[in-house]
Amino acid sequence: MSGLVVIGASYAGIQAALTAREAGYAEPVTVIADESALPYQRPPLSKDFLLDEISAQGLLMHDEAIFSDNRIELCLGSRVVGIDRNAGRVVLAGGAVLDFERLVIATGSRARRIAVRGADLDGVCYLRSIADAADLRARLGEASEIVIVGGGFIGLEVASSAAKLGKKVTVIEAASRLLERAVSPVVSRFLLDRHVRAGVAVKFGTAVSAMIGDGGRIAAVELNEGVRLGADLVVVGIGGIANDELAVAAGLDCANGIVVDEHGRTAYPGIYAAGDCANHYSRFAGGWIRLESVQHAQDQGRSAGLAIAESHEAYDSVPRFWSDQHDLKLQIVGHSARSDRIAIRSLRAEAGRFSVFSYREGKLVAVDSINNPADQMVARRLIAAGISPTPDQAEDSSCDLKALLKTGNKAVASCCRRQS
Ligand SMILES: Cc1cc2nc3c(=O)[nH]c(=O)nc-3n(C[C@H](O)[C@H](O)[C@H](O)COP(=O)(O)OP(=O)(O)OC[C@H]3O[C@@H](n4cnc5c(N)ncnc54)[C@H](O)[C@@H]3O)c2cc1C
Repeated sequence: MSGLVVIGASYAGIQAALTAREAGYAEPVTVIADESALPYQRPPLSKDFLLDEISAQGLLMHDEAIFSDNRIELCLGSRVVGIDRNAGRVVLAGGAVLDFERLVIATGSRARRIAVRGADLDGVCYLRSIADAADLRARLGEASEIVIVGGGFIGLEVASSAAKLGKKVTVIEAASRLLERAVSPVVSRFLLDRHVRAGVAVKFGTAVSAMIGDGGRIAAVELNEGVRLGADLVVVGIGGIANDELAVAAGLDCANGIVVDEHGRTAYPGIYAAGDCANHYSRFAGGWIRLESVQHAQDQGRSAGLAIAESHEAYDSVPRFWSDQHDLKLQIVGHSARSDRIAIRSLRAEAGRFSVFSYREGKLVAVDSINNPADQMVARRLIAAGISPTPDQAEDSSCDLKALLKTGNKAVASCCRRQS
């Protein structure tokens, strides 16, 4: 059987398959997934699911009927172990082969493992899949002292969930602030304050040198300076690695992910990649980037699906991400790396609601918002259109930034108290 084969049944793969179908692709479509669960949402795994506030059923991305309605065959619990790009076939574990006319590689990413002594002790956990989350949830119920390695999104979300469960939580972060590569220092400080108020301890500028066991189970974490922290559960959240090994072995161009163009196409005709496993050029980042976000996986998967159905629409979405920690919703739009100036809008920190506008050489490149979805909606449209309010305009909460969408960079002067 030929047609479209998709490897990976998550946001990017499912979006590519559904979009190709909706856009008129008529050949057979098969999605192969090594996980056995029906396609599910990952973000709640570190949030509601850990707190037992959503069931496995509640995590499902779609009603199962959507696949049969769209003549999409789901092969769950099957791992692809090889791609023969010249013959147009994939090889499954166990030896079965499947021919393809078009192939989408949507294999996502995996949690980076920590390479220290004792890393394989029972009770040293990672969080990527529903199976990981179910295991972690059970362990959290039993644990009392939790050490989280990494003050990134996963670590902080797990810290928030564990603190809500009344656990003693310590986060170890090698950098000097939280989410250093993702948000502005103002937001890092604000989040730190919220975590500390919830009872989470955070240690900066230090790394784990060893995991110490007792009878094969984790008992303590040793830090670089020799300090030991008691721990009966460790959660490691030190970033993700692209699952691009199949693509590398097939001779596709890979550099921190599978290199694709704005339609999700690799350089090899008929082979596409999308989502966490792909690396693309982003005008918003000003360079090549591999993103790990739901919005990115879906939008890039959609572009690949459209291209497969010969209905091309370039992927050009502004990167977006969100994270829920304690009672805060953090939303990020754009890419703040190398920003050289910020402006803070509606700073009502005591009410926990504000946005930080980041600029690079006078251009708005990113906005981080805390409990402020309205600013995010405008910011997304401004950044997409290449329109930059001045920092003074951004800081002036009486200034209607939406008006800029009509007038461009010119005049919202009349609505602003201060002009630059
Ligand atoms: C705990 C957690 C919380 C998150 N929270 C947020 C959030 O709040 N906001 C946000 O925007 N993003 C969040 N993310 C990130 C988001 O979930 C990912 O960016 C998104 O899932 C990427 O989708 P994807 O389809 O590219 O890949 P994945 O979701 O990684 O799916 C890839 C699938 O392919 C399978 N696969 C890999 N290799 C093979 C193979 N050889 N054969 C068959 N199948 C294979 C994998 O097992 C997996 O099921 C979170 C991620 C995690 C883990």
